[in-house]
Amino acid sequence: MTSPTPRVVSGIQPSGTIHLGNYFGAIRQHIALQDTHPGDAFYFIADYHALTTVRDPAVLRAHVFDSALTYLALGLDPARATLFRQSDVPEVTELAWLLATVTGMGLLERAHSYKDKLANNITPSVGLFFYPVLMAADILAHDGTLVPVGKDQLQHVEMAQDMATHFNEAYGRDPPVLYRPEPLPAKAAVVPGLDGRKMSKSYDNSLLLFESGKPLRKRVGQIVTDSTPLGEPLPFATCNVVALLRLFCDDAELAAIETYYRDGRRDGAPFGYGHAKLLLAEKIEQHFAPARARREQLLTPAGRAEIEAVLARGATKARAVASATLARCRRACGLR
Ligand code: ATP
Ligand code: MG
Repeated sequence: MTSPTPRVVSGIQPSGTIHLGNYFGAIRQHIALQDTHPGDAFYFIADYHALTTVRDPAVLRAHVFDSALTYLALGLDPARATLFRQSDVPEVTELAWLLATVTGMGLLERAHSYKDKLANNITPSVGLFFYPVLMAADILAHDGTLVPVGKDQLQHVEMAQDMATHFNEAYGRDPPVLYRPEPLPAKAAVVPGLDGRKMSKSYDNSLLLFESGKPLRKRVGQIVTDSTPLGEPLPFATCNVVALLRLFCDDAELAAIETYYRDGRRDGAPFGYGHAKLLLAEKIEQHFAPARARREQLLTPAGRAEIEAVLARGATKARAVASATLARCRRACGLR
């Protein structure tokens, strides 16, 4: 049960500033997939979802703009990939309702991400509990068959598979009303934040893509490590700084860093966490330098107008697909 042309669909919440976890877990793949699926790579800025955590309208608008800016700075090409605001396609909220009617409570109660947020003292709204249903609607409304996500979101894609199956079982298997999505999990492990928990926009434990110089070094300096004194051997396998360095270093560089950790020395001089953190800050700064320059260009008035135009064109294209899906669903279940 796959759609005629494989379509890539994924999203990001404008719930904070995009961080290294979002980049290595999702955005890097999103941009690469525009080469393999030109015309069929759909990425949305999940502003309905963000309302579960953001309550300030100006902040929400700023994060939406910043998310679009970041995608474009990182190389999203609007000629090949469709970038749009989730709320420009209100059909997804209708599909979310239709899916909710065929979804058992137990399925949602098992969601790791929901339980994780509860464990981190986020007071849940019904909206937060409902998150996987809205996410399934995003994927299914746009006939998404390939869903590139970070490992923290895999379970949500499996839930979308279940919801598509339940809907088709209730209302039509042949031809299917909804297409089965397959996850495309990121190769990178879940990226840890400064405190060792999952790096998350809502945990204030992020390293950002476009920070540089002193503020970046200060932020990197906050990564939690143990209290091994300078010059003593450091634990390589369990170190958070190493987990982050792995994202940027090749095997040879990592092997060299492993020897610094084992010896507690580099080139005869003592080597400690502070040195490892400096290496990381340099890597981040270098890696994102070209995108930082493109970002500056997009921050001109002409660049800003272009971003709005990209989102408007994306919305028109995405809405055409979602309207057709909803027409199919309404007919199938008897609303029409
Ligand atoms: P929030 O805290 O509001 O949930 P978030 O930082 O988890 O925000 P999302 O917008 O929920 O970010 O996720 C966008 C994409 O980034 C998803 O594909 C998700 O799997 C991926 N992602 C988020 N955090 C990480 C992480 N720490 N490591 C790897 N991938 C991640
Ligand atoms: Mg998340």
